[in-house]
Amino acid sequence: MALDADIKAQLSQYLQMLEGDLVLKVSAGSDKVSEEMLALVEELASMSPRISVEKVELARTPSFSVNRVGEETGVTFAGVPLGHEFTSLVLALLQVSGRAPKVDQSVIDQIKNIKGEHHFETYVSLSCHNCPDVVQALNIMSVLNPNVTHTMIDGAAFKEEVERKDVLAVPAIYLNAEPFGNGRMSIEEILAKLGEGPSADTLSEKDPYDVLVVGGGPAGASAAIYAARKGIRTGIVAERFGGQILDTLSIENFISVKNTEGPKLAAALEEHVKEYDIDVMNLQRAKGLEKKDLIEIELENGAVLKSKTVIISTGARWRNVNVPGEQEFKNKGVAYCPHCDGPLFEGKDVAVIGGGNSGIEAAIDLAGIVKHVTVIEFMPELKADEVLQKRLYSLPNVTVVKNAATKEITGTDKVDGITYVDRDTGEETHVELAGVFVQIGLVPNTDWLEGQLERNRIGEIIVEKNGATTIPGVFAAGDCTDSAYNQIIISMGSGATAALGAFDYLIRN
Ligand SMILES: Cc1cc2nc3c(=O)[nH]c(=O)nc-3n(C[C@H](O)[C@H](O)[C@H](O)COP(=O)(O)OP(=O)(O)OC[C@H]3O[C@@H](n4cnc5c(N)ncnc54)[C@H](O)[C@@H]3O)c2cc1C
Repeated sequence: MALDADIKAQLSQYLQMLEGDLVLKVSAGSDKVSEEMLALVEELASMSPRISVEKVELARTPSFSVNRVGEETGVTFAGVPLGHEFTSLVLALLQVSGRAPKVDQSVIDQIKNIKGEHHFETYVSLSCHNCPDVVQALNIMSVLNPNVTHTMIDGAAFKEEVERKDVLAVPAIYLNAEPFGNGRMSIEEILAKLGEGPSADTLSEKDPYDVLVVGGGPAGASAAIYAARKGIRTGIVAERFGGQILDTLSIENFISVKNTEGPKLAAALEEHVKEYDIDVMNLQRAKGLEKKDLIEIELENGAVLKSKTVIISTGARWRNVNVPGEQEFKNKGVAYCPHCDGPLFEGKDVAVIGGGNSGIEAAIDLAGIVKHVTVIEFMPELKADEVLQKRLYSLPNVTVVKNAATKEITGTDKVDGITYVDRDTGEETHVELAGVFVQIGLVPNTDWLEGQLERNRIGEIIVEKNGATTIPGVFAAGDCTDSAYNQIIISMGSGATAALGAFDYLIRN
């Protein structure tokens, strides 16, 4: 395998950091993927005297496991881990060789505490930007705990297996052959799902905060940092630290950073937050807010956190199309992330619901992979920018249906079609296809505040120019508010504003 010269140069630097000898146990056949995998493995061995290769028979062919000499570590790659998974391979080599993974000691302790056999398998696509996080997290767990094993499986190399299991969204994680999770999961999320997180009592016993931020996206992170810099007791409770940017591929308008990737920016946010004395409670979902002497935030696990002020920054989530079939076939043909799940529909027919910028970008992206894309737009015209429309209409394998209401996503155990209705004539059309990508915008995550504070018609929290809401001491920031535009830099600005607003409130009350 001829690795690109730049990659080879970088790889050679990394391989110098190996701390112990490694054996790559390879199970190869005579197929093309086996050949590519063998070439990659042999190239690795040729670049470091610490790496040797042994031919064996593993559960899957082609695959290879990464082991210490005389010790199986349980880290296996089925297929060729290039593309987005190349970093996972490099990290696995380093960590199996003895280099400590970059995770907190508390996380290491939780991993070591896992009892019983845990055999994880993750189906990925090499173009999925959410998959490496899962692969790397589970590899770390395998390296640290002999009861845990993990196999990354490239869906494109194991098409039959993927079809048999109806894997239509990646990463798809299985534990002991049963479905465990879908989509990006951090190591903390995996541990929480295994029941290794903090208890409700531990959380309820925490002292009241001066500022408690609910939500850990760009707005929440910014609010927490601004509050902590005032030297006041600050906490942040988030369902999923990082927020929407975890699902964003390329970011080119975060001023002063020419280009970055969402997960990279999320990691930078976390690092910045950790620079301060901020109590981060990740993977905890708020379900209620009540103003008593202090403001109380009730969490889904029953814990109650108290604070003098609260900043709500719970952001937004994908809007559902709310037709029969959408919930039933989520991850079984109904998808929301074209970058992640597009490759699973290679050579098949799909639909994109939504003709705004995100819908048309998705359609253009998918048209390069799938056989045919049907774009369904509710309004008589597409709303996407002219330049995107032009590109879309230049593609030979796209049909645009305008002024059409989606009626149903059909299927038995997975999606097999979509039915839409012409809004003028009432005529119904059914299209047979394998996947539906829903791209119709976002809704604010404010349902849990129902009846508590003033929100507008679409559920956004109405805020004053200092971020204040209709409850004294409760502030809000970011995509969950009625701000004119939803962007990272705007959310961060409003997070900062809300924190300064809260600090001002604390001084006066
Ligand atoms: C695909 C995509 C691409 C994008 N590309 C760009 C771009 O290129 N440039 C740009 O500027 N913007 C982009 N955006 C928009 C940008 O990501 C958002 O404006 C920004 O993330 C909003 O930040 P936020 O902190 O307000 O909310 P979010 O990022 O939504 O974060 C909300 C936080 O609150 C948490 N939360 C939600 N409900 C609860 C609850 N009940 N309890 C506790 N925690 C909760 C979430 O887990 C999360 O931590 C993109 C968005 C998407 C979806």
